[in-house]
Amino acid sequence: MPHEKSDAIREYSAPGVTITWEPGRCRHAQECVHGLPAVFDRDRRPWIDPSAASVDDIVDVIDRCPSYALGYRTGDGRTRTAPPA
Ligand code: SF4
Repeated sequence: MPHEKSDAIREYSAPGVTITWEPGRCRHAQECVHGLPAVFDRDRRPWIDPSAASVDDIVDVIDRCPSYALGYRTGDGRTRTAPPA
């Protein structure tokens, strides 16, 4: 996964979904890049393209992120955020 200097949460938006990513939580399990390589591409900048898959597919893959580095807000009200530390 890309190394980022800041742990601030980044946001990547497309119609119907905003993907959030908190670099400091990423444990490099690669569920995301294996699950949806068109959306999560470590060699691309920005490395997340929320327009490259359906909202439901994005939700399914982000739900597998074991560290909660990835989250989402969907246009129909679904959310995933990291639990409190
Ligand atoms: S699935 Fe989560 S922890 Fe694993 S590489 Fe992707 S963002 Fe990082």
